[in-house]
Amino acid sequence: MRVRKVVKELDPYIPGRSQDEIAEEFNLKKEDIIKLGSNENPWGPSKKALYNIKNELNYINRYPESDLEDLKKEIADYSGVDSSEVIIGGDGADEIIDILAKTFIEEDDEFIVPLPSYMYYEFLFKPYGAIPVYGRWNLDDNTLDIESILSKINENTKMIFLCSPNNPTGALVSREDIIKILKVTEEKEIVLVIDEAYFEYSEVNNVDIINKYSNVFIMRTMSKVLGLAGMRIGYGIANSKMIDYMHRIKPVFSLTKLSYYAALNTLKDKEYIKNSIKNGIDSRNYLFEELSKINSLNVLKSYSNYILIGIKDIGITAKELTQKLMEKGVIVRDCTSFKGLDEYWIRVSIGTMDEDKKFLEILNNVIGDI
Ligand SMILES: *Cc1c(COP(=O)(O)O)cnc(C)c1O
Repeated sequence: MRVRKVVKELDPYIPGRSQDEIAEEFNLKKEDIIKLGSNENPWGPSKKALYNIKNELNYINRYPESDLEDLKKEIADYSGVDSSEVIIGGDGADEIIDILAKTFIEEDDEFIVPLPSYMYYEFLFKPYGAIPVYGRWNLDDNTLDIESILSKINENTKMIFLCSPNNPTGALVSREDIIKILKVTEEKEIVLVIDEAYFEYSEVNNVDIINKYSNVFIMRTMSKVLGLAGMRIGYGIANSKMIDYMHRIKPVFSLTKLSYYAALNTLKDKEYIKNSIKNGIDSRNYLFEELSKINSLNVLKSYSNYILIGIKDIGITAKELTQKLMEKGVIVRDCTSFKGLDEYWIRVSIGTMDEDKKFLEILNNVIGDI
């Protein structure tokens, strides 16, 4: 078939595994499976959002909102910016990445991303003819190797992606490093994308600089702490000029009616948000403390809702370990497909306290049996 060359050569993206898949493969009950593989909110969605979605079910014969003004206003208030500085994506933040590519990328432009980081940037950018250039994330002290970014900047660089907290390593990019990069990139008009998908768990963010530097773009999602991964809602924040350009090319109806109501009513549910953040941070701190007691694991400190764990000392690969855990009904992320990591890393998302305890017990048993 006369398929485009980039499509023929594209590495497939390997997402985390679903409960249904694992239930079928290992003959388990879906409700018994502990899913700690995709950094979701384990406490479920906002009740207010659920109530409003159910009401709207009767109207799905109609097209959704297209200007999304109410939702932009709600997101702007939540983020402390103006509505004109917000763009909303209907396939989650992943659509925001796609709109970034459509707005900025010409064939053979380069984008820089440290490794390991979120692999979806590359997956979405390559089809537009963009070339990935890799910097480095230091695993020894879990920091960005800033020189590895600065030294790759050249006249072909169009964009830089920094994820903070970084998925999968869990650490933040320091404000100092962000400013250093902005100082070099602003006059070259290279867009610095700061992916804040997990900012709530770190309790720091970078929105205050969107009007200090013309080239900064902040990307966020409602899939993580806000409990709406299945509804696919993401957003971006930047100066209104950049946002206007992006709106020119954004699909008009990509946010479904039900997602719109889910988003609006979750953001109005302040109690839900407060609890999701607090429970998430408590669960992460508990998991970190307990995992750190297992001597054979290299547990990286996290400011997010997942923890990256080096497992080389237990003597089997991440693929083998995740397989053994799945047989016992636990899904964690095998990080072998993350560029920049070898085959000895897993990423574990926070669960409810109950799930955390069960997971730790199963993990201890599995390691004990090796
Ligand atoms: C989950 C995630 C996203 C986007 O998720 P969506 O579900 O598409 O909104 C973006 N960046 C990072 C680093 C993520 O982990």
